[in-house]
Amino acid sequence: MNTQASETQPLRAPCLGRLENIYIKRDDLIHPIISGNKWRKLKFHLLEAERLNKKLLVTFGGGYSNHMVATACAAAAHGFKSACFVRGDELQAESNHFLQLAHLYGMQIIPVERSKYRDFKKELFEEYFGHKKEAYCIDEGGAGDLSSLGVEDIIGELPMVPDYIYHASATATTAVGLLSAIQKNPKFNATSVQSIAVLKNAEEQQLKTAHLGAGNSQIREGFEMGGYAKTNNELMEFVRTFIAETGILIDPIYTGKALWAIKKDIESGQLGEDKTVLFLHTGGMLGLFSKKMLGHWKP
Ligand SMILES: *Cc1c(COP(=O)(O)O)cnc(C)c1O
Repeated sequence: MNTQASETQPLRAPCLGRLENIYIKRDDLIHPIISGNKWRKLKFHLLEAERLNKKLLVTFGGGYSNHMVATACAAAAHGFKSACFVRGDELQAESNHFLQLAHLYGMQIIPVERSKYRDFKKELFEEYFGHKKEAYCIDEGGAGDLSSLGVEDIIGELPMVPDYIYHASATATTAVGLLSAIQKNPKFNATSVQSIAVLKNAEEQQLKTAHLGAGNSQIREGFEMGGYAKTNNELMEFVRTFIAETGILIDPIYTGKALWAIKKDIESGQLGEDKTVLFLHTGGMLGLFSKKMLGHWKP
């Protein structure tokens, strides 16, 4: 699995407020359309699937899942077939651009009824693929230990030791990877990871990271703006300004909310001017290219 290291660059975005030393790690550039952190999370799954001689990657996702498309693309690029159970039996491979892309990469799309999707993932896999020795199962959203392991590389790639790392957090798999890597590397002992919850599940995320008891790192709540993929005009304006000021695309679903948290922490004085901050751009461009999102900025 070829995930090259991504670049770290100085970030100049007046809309964030006054801060001298702010950097951005461009995991969004690892792949043109697929979330950087999804590549990182798939890395060890692909190696494991290869080692076990598997031929088919099976996973789970909502109709707008970055992980689904990432799995479809990674599978195609590495000689695997792929399939995905999709939440909602009203969906088809043509329903939106996420599903269309996944399908284009050769993924078998299997829409399932919502309650069945929620409660019977193991059974679904067994029912459809249990008899197939070549099938390898990857959790919804690419959650899990093997996925976090791939994220750990990020810390080793950093050209500096930041006081703070901010990133968008949903399943806390990325957070666990960052926190584990920091724990293993004494140089980063004082670095605080600020994992910005993009949906209302901060408590669940806190449970997943609690064993890493990481100093002043935290899962942050209060930046969800009502929940997953929910936005408001203030956030949309901020996203628009950031993109126009930097030439770097962000989306209002993940990275926009994490950058918003940086802005708010600078405003409140919680982030002192002398601090070095790293923003981890986790990618997620597909979310920006939906009608609903782009329609917001109609001239
Ligand atoms: C999936 C995703 C995240 C969340 O990563 P987790 O490991 O689930 O916390 C953050 N940013 C983007 C762009 C994503 O696609």
